[in-house]
Amino acid sequence: MSLPKLSFEFFPTRTPEGRAKQVITRKQLSQYAPDFFSCTSGAGGSTKEGTMQTIQDILSEGIAAAPHLPCIGMQPQEVVDLLNEYKALGIRHIVALRGDIPSGMGAGMDGLFYANELVSLIKNEFGNHFHIEVAAYPEFHPQARSAEDDLNNFVRKVKAGADSAITQYFYNTDAYFRFVDDVQGRGVNIPIIPGIMPIASFSKLTRFSDTCGAEIPRWLRLKLQSYADDTAAIKSLALDVVTEMCERLLREGAPGLHFYTLNQAGLVSTICQRLGY
Ligand code: FAD
Repeated sequence: MSLPKLSFEFFPTRTPEGRAKQVITRKQLSQYAPDFFSCTSGAGGSTKEGTMQTIQDILSEGIAAAPHLPCIGMQPQEVVDLLNEYKALGIRHIVALRGDIPSGMGAGMDGLFYANELVSLIKNEFGNHFHIEVAAYPEFHPQARSAEDDLNNFVRKVKAGADSAITQYFYNTDAYFRFVDDVQGRGVNIPIIPGIMPIASFSKLTRFSDTCGAEIPRWLRLKLQSYADDTAAIKSLALDVVTEMCERLLREGAPGLHFYTLNQAGLVSTICQRLGY
């Protein structure tokens, strides 16, 4: 029986050395036959060139590439122009996002705002050319007015034409299954792929998690904390926890796994191997 599909996310590098290192990282991860590699993009176009370069590198390695497109503050024509560039390169897959509001900007700003507006625009302008991936938040988006409101907003993106979704990372597996049940109960039937964040550093993880709204369960936080600077112990526990979470996700029907690689192959590779990939 074939295993569910994997995908791996990268962020654009700033230096030629970083770019060269990323080529090696992708080569290591390509042995797991990924469905696609994606590359993040800074809201407001802050990494436009780096994202484009990374996407071209991925394509030249013979792997399907999915650029992330955070739309906040972009004019519709800018989005169409960028998508035409991607289309000319042969891209068929886009991760359509709002992006984080750049400081000093807010409601009332010009241009596109919510991800559902971007999804509608892509559908209207490009029909079915692009497979549209959107973000999902099993523990809810940090700016959501309420859980119900966030679920309804997710459904709105799907109704606008999203083909599948990747979740924010989480360590509460039940939150993922509850989210899938909730949106299925609202008529959503697209694949919702868990986003998996391996844990390399406890302090970095807590910083990230505070801003993106992912909860580190108390038992895990306290255990990781108790290891202080013992990075080997942190990695060992974290590998066990994340691998067990992935096993359960796949066993109970998750349609695939999307890894936030942070441009590193080591932990992701170990998890994939332990899962039998
Ligand atoms: P939306 O779906 O627009 O939702 C944002 C908030 O607004 C939510 O609280 C929602 O409930 C609410 N909302 C949605 N629609 C409406 C509406 N029509 N009316 C009122 N309220 C509404 N960020 C980047 O900058 N670059 C990246 O490359 C990037 N990649 C990511 C990849 C993944 C898989 C994930 C999960 C996140 C990524 N992010 C990235 C972060 C993401 O941009 C932020 O979480 C952002 O704050 C929300 O983006 P969204 O597309 O989920 O927004």
